[in-house]
Amino acid sequence: MDVDILNAVAAKMKKYKIEARFDTGFDRLTTIGTGGKICIAIFPDSERKLVKTLRYLRKMGVDTVVLGRGSNVLAADGYFDGAVVVTVRANNFRIRGNTMTACCGASTAAMAKALAERGLSGGEFLSCLPGTAGGAAVSNAGCFGQDIKSIFCSAKALYGDKLIRLSAQECHFGKRDSIFKHKDIIVLSVKLKFTRSSRQAVLDAVAEMRRNKASAQPLNARSAGCVLYHDNVAVSRLIDEMGFKGYRVGGAEVSAKHAGFVLNIDKATSLDIYLIIRRLQQELWDRYGLIAKREVRLINFEDENDIFSKREK
Ligand SMILES: Cc1cc2nc3c(=O)[nH]c(=O)nc-3n(C[C@H](O)[C@H](O)[C@H](O)COP(=O)(O)OP(=O)(O)OC[C@H]3O[C@@H](n4cnc5c(N)ncnc54)[C@H](O)[C@@H]3O)c2cc1C
Repeated sequence: MDVDILNAVAAKMKKYKIEARFDTGFDRLTTIGTGGKICIAIFPDSERKLVKTLRYLRKMGVDTVVLGRGSNVLAADGYFDGAVVVTVRANNFRIRGNTMTACCGASTAAMAKALAERGLSGGEFLSCLPGTAGGAAVSNAGCFGQDIKSIFCSAKALYGDKLIRLSAQECHFGKRDSIFKHKDIIVLSVKLKFTRSSRQAVLDAVAEMRRNKASAQPLNARSAGCVLYHDNVAVSRLIDEMGFKGYRVGGAEVSAKHAGFVLNIDKATSLDIYLIIRRLQQELWDRYGLIAKREVRLINFEDENDIFSKREK
C-alpha cells in the first residue's frame, strides 16, 4: 500500500478512535492459525464505526477484506497488502419478543446462550459455531437440521457506499451459500426470529447438540471446520471411504476423527492445507465423478481459477 495512503488510514482510524494494528497476520486472526502478514488490521467496535471504516477504505481505494472470527477462511501465506477489517468487537445484540437483532461481529455462541436463557428455540445450532453472526449469514451456516435461513428475517448491509436492507428471499440462501458470497455486500446486522419454548428445553437441546458435535468432530484442534461440501452427498463419508483420514502434507493433516476437517497440527502453512483440499477434490472427482465445493473461503490466493471452479460454473 502506498505509504501516504497507509498513513492517512492510520490517522483516520486514530481520529475515529478505532484500533489499527500493523504487526499482525492471518495466523492470529483465524481459527486454523495459518496465513501471511497483513499491512493493516482494523478493529471497529460498533456498527457505526464499521460503516465509517469501510466507507473510508473504499474512498481511499484500499484493498479490503472483512473478517469475523476467521473460522471459515484460509488466507494465503503471502503478504496481504491491504486492510483486514475484523468485526468481532462490533458485537452487540438485543432480544425483543421473539426476535434478535445482532451486529455482524456478535459471537454466535453468546447469541445462543442468551436465547437459551430466554427460552427461545430455533437457534440452538448457533452454540456449535465458533464464528460471528455476519460470517454465519454469509455461508448460511448450520448443523443438526437448523441453519441461518430457517431463522432469518432480514439483514442490514453496506453495498458500495449504500446502506440497504435485504429480506430472506433477497439473500438467496442455499446450502452453505448466500448472495453475500457472490456480491460485495457487507452484512452489518441481522434480524433473526425464534419460537417460544422453555429455558430448560432449549438448554437441553443445546447440550445435546454440543455433546454430539464434540464426539464427532476434532473441536480442540486448529481447523476451519469442514473444508468441502456437496448439496446432496456427505463428502466427509466419501473421504473416509477413500482412506484419507490421517493423510498429511507438511504440517497439515486430514482429521482421523472427522474426514471433512483438515487440521493444522504442526506449524502448517496455508499451502499445505490448500494442497490437501485440492487432492481431496481431485480424488472425489476421479473416483466418484463428484464435484465437491470448497466450504472454506480463500483469501489472497492467486490460484482461484482452478479446474474445480471452472467445473462449478
Ligand atoms: C471447529 C469448527 C466447527 C465448525 N462447525 C460448523 C458447522 O457445524 N456448521 C457450519 O455451517 N459451519 C461450521 N464451521 C465454519 C464456521 O464456523 C462458520 O461458517 C461461521 O459461521 C463463520 O463465521 P466467522 O465469523 O468465523 O466468518 P469468517 O471465517 O471470519 O468469514 C467467512 C467469510 O465471510 C466473510 N465475512 C465475514 N463477516 C462478514 C460480514 N459481516 N459481511 C460480509 N462478509 C463477511 C469473510 O470475508 C469470509 O469470506 C465450523 C468451523 C470450525 C473451526
